[in-house]
Amino acid sequence: MTDVKQYVDGFVSERTAWLSQPYIGIPNNYVGLQLSSTEQLYKIGRKAHRAGWQLATHANGDLAIDRILSVYERIQRGLPKRDARFRIEHCTLAPKPLVGRMGAMQVIPAPISVYAYFHGDVRHFYGQERAKDTFPMRTFLHAGLRPTDSSDNTASPVDPQLTRTHMKGDVWGASQRITLPTSNPFAGQ
Ligand SMILES: [Zn+2]
Repeated sequence: MTDVKQYVDGFVSERTAWLSQPYIGIPNNYVGLQLSSTEQLYKIGRKAHRAGWQLATHANGDLAIDRILSVYERIQRGLPKRDARFRIEHCTLAPKPLVGRMGAMQVIPAPISVYAYFHGDVRHFYGQERAKDTFPMRTFLHAGLRPTDSSDNTASPVDPQLTRTHMKGDVWGASQRITLPTSNPFAGQ
């Protein structure tokens, strides 16, 4: 074991990812769930960082990713470490400004792009506009990041990380499709 996992928010499939803008079709401006306070993430994260652990924080929604990036930035300011290799687990909804901040610290995104295949039926709660920033592999690679990807292979096929297509045929953010040669730099890491 080398890393410490904390949780900022919930899950994309359960519509509990913490978003900056409300879910579509859910009443009362519902934006998902925050599971840990920023102060708690900072306190535990700083302690683990100081003790030499790698931080790998679960964050799915864009607001959750924004909060954990602020925590990582604050930890690095106080206790700078070269090659800290902070990770964001799942890192699902990551618009370009957040990816830019990740690039500045070389944060490692660990998305599960196979969600497009298995959870494409919840995409409408996020909408077309947000779909293009969801597990944005192409944006990550263009920003010089080294994303990993999880497929649960052999339990699930590897293809959806490339095609972003649901089992019923619906496509989730086609502009983030990557080709096999593009994906090679991070394959197997
Ligand atoms: Zn997780």
